[in-house]
Amino acid sequence: MAEVLVVVEASQAAGVKKVTLEMLTAARELGGVSAVVFGGEGAAAQFADKLAEYGAQKIYAGEGEEIDGYLVAPKATALAELVRRVQPAAVLLASTQEGKEIAGRLAVKLDNGLLTDAVAVAPDGTATQVVFAGAVIVTSQVTKGVPIITLRPNSMTPVPAPASPVVEQLTVHATDADKLARVVERVAEQKGSRPELTEASVVVSGGRGVGNADNFKLVEEMADLLGGAVGASRAAVDSGFYPHQFQVGQTGKTVSPQLYVALGISGAIQHRAGMQTSKTIVAVNKDAEAPIFELADFGVVGDLFKVVPQADEEIRKRR
Ligand SMILES: Cc1cc2nc3c(=O)[nH]c(=O)nc-3n(C[C@H](O)[C@H](O)[C@H](O)COP(=O)(O)OP(=O)(O)OC[C@H]3O[C@@H](n4cnc5c(N)ncnc54)[C@H](O)[C@@H]3O)c2cc1C
Repeated sequence: MAEVLVVVEASQAAGVKKVTLEMLTAARELGGVSAVVFGGEGAAAQFADKLAEYGAQKIYAGEGEEIDGYLVAPKATALAELVRRVQPAAVLLASTQEGKEIAGRLAVKLDNGLLTDAVAVAPDGTATQVVFAGAVIVTSQVTKGVPIITLRPNSMTPVPAPASPVVEQLTVHATDADKLARVVERVAEQKGSRPELTEASVVVSGGRGVGNADNFKLVEEMADLLGGAVGASRAAVDSGFYPHQFQVGQTGKTVSPQLYVALGISGAIQHRAGMQTSKTIVAVNKDAEAPIFELADFGVVGDLFKVVPQADEEIRKRR
């Protein structure tokens, strides 16, 4: 059975990200699962147990300064070498900024096709993408080379399938061109108790309708009651209500939670681009004509300052 390479998304602080477990689950339908870990010395050992739990039969470890000291370019070079050597049935990466950049570079290096933002991958490598604010579902195949596919976080439920992986060290041959930008410092972001936005199964987002930064407490409170992450529209971010790293949309993060709650968000196409694949969408907006209601599974036409406290009350009762 041909190998399927899964490029691992993980961090020292958070461990193996959920999207990696989703990719490992998807990869099992395509072939023998090989995880590719890039990071500092010892990264593969740190993540091996989790990767084994979700079916990795092999772990390729690309570790050390040649990888960790630079941005994504050496990772793409190392991955291209690996693909040429093992001729995998497919390569799966996460639809994150880094995953997509590696995928793009890899496709260019191999003169290969590439599919991004897939929400499902069939055993024959056909990818499903959801486009135009969820209005169109596209199925596509790479027609040149091996299927290189990036998978959107929260697209599927990770299912464990324990395996006993062997670890193979990769010798990384980063080129001079790969080393044109190096990492000079890493500062770990102070994390609160909330889940990471792109990985959360519940996201509560606030828009311009929230009114000001102080009122965002209302959004945070609902998110905390639901064990979710907080998001924001660009208008809310641009108005200084909430920091940019929480922006959802075309120029922000892409989320695909089980539940997305939009509070005081009109539903502009650029916002929808970042949340349209959410499984259930709830919107609260005082304007019955707001476009968000075209997308919402449940809509409440009303003032969020009246609706949200009442909803919180009901959630508390059911906890
Ligand atoms: C190139 C480009 C990229 C962009 N990228 C993004 C992006 O990544 N993410 C993004 O979000 N936007 C993005 N935008 C901006 C986008 O076009 C919209 O301007 C933005 O999404 C609007 O944010 P909003 O819905 O919060 O604000 P508005 O459109 O002003 O909507 C506010 C809503 O709140 C409702 N409201 C007001 N008060 C209350 C209340 N008390 N109770 C209930 N409802 C209330 C109003 O009825 C209204 O529908 C981008 C635009 C461009 C051109």
